[in-house]
Amino acid sequence: MFKQLEHLGIAVNNIEESDKLFRLLLGSTYYKTEAVESEGVTTAFYNGGNVKIELLEATKENSPIAKFIEKRGEGLHHVAFEVEDIEKRMEELREQGFRLLNEKPKRGADNKMICFIHPKDTNGILVEMCETIKQNND
Ligand code: ZN
Repeated sequence: MFKQLEHLGIAVNNIEESDKLFRLLLGSTYYKTEAVESEGVTTAFYNGGNVKIELLEATKENSPIAKFIEKRGEGLHHVAFEVEDIEKRMEELREQGFRLLNEKPKRGADNKMICFIHPKDTNGILVEMCETIKQNND
């Protein structure tokens, strides 16, 4: 059902500070910074070899990342798996009794459509499904 682990999402207080750390750990594998206005986050991406690292910094006090850090501190926020046909995967998961955090796939960072599974249904781990948006040339 999931093709592969695509990235790990890490909640941080300050992307600029964490950028220094991740460049130290991963070398110059940084490849983009992107704000996702609707989620109230700024993201930075690194290529960690087989899996990408997504740093997430809150841009609003009431954003999910701000709430997460307030409750649990900085750290691993979600694991993201690549899927094909995200709407179909969502339907299958609903049929199996999983609760999803969004009704429809939503636009995420790094050219993806995404959906989260409720962590109460996945051993406390927030799981993201993501599908790369195919470029339309017309
Ligand atoms: Zn993510």
